[in-house]
Amino acid sequence: MFCGIVAGEVPAFRVADEADGVALLDTRPVFKGHVLVVPRTHLVTLADLPADALPGYFRLVQRLAVAVEAGLSAGGTFVAMNNKVSQSVPHLHTHVVPRTKGDGLRGFFWPRTRYADDAEAGDFAGRIAAALAEDGTVG
Ligand SMILES: [Zn+2]
Repeated sequence: MFCGIVAGEVPAFRVADEADGVALLDTRPVFKGHVLVVPRTHLVTLADLPADALPGYFRLVQRLAVAVEAGLSAGGTFVAMNNKVSQSVPHLHTHVVPRTKGDGLRGFFWPRTRYADDAEAGDFAGRIAAALAEDGTVG
């Protein structure tokens, strides 16, 4: 679907069409002005995005976050990406959703939980840190 939009074969409300990606309106927005930013190349998840494409792609996401807020006189934005689970279209896309204080999104979209104790929190932090160390990148 997004490949068809990038190629111009599928209609969409385009917001940006650049070398680093295409931005378009989500047809079923959380709030009106909800934008999807997709890379031009077919990639499924964030893990598939080549390192040399990261700066350009996320620079575009950043610019859209600024533009959505400014262009819609929104109070701010919510920027998010689903990978695999809840990923409705198997082509990488980042959501940029305009936010307004009191818009009610927080309650249903971010159900909160708690760690049982500091040991459990430390365990989660340790597992993520260990995986990060394994990717070979020196921070
Ligand atoms: Zn695609």
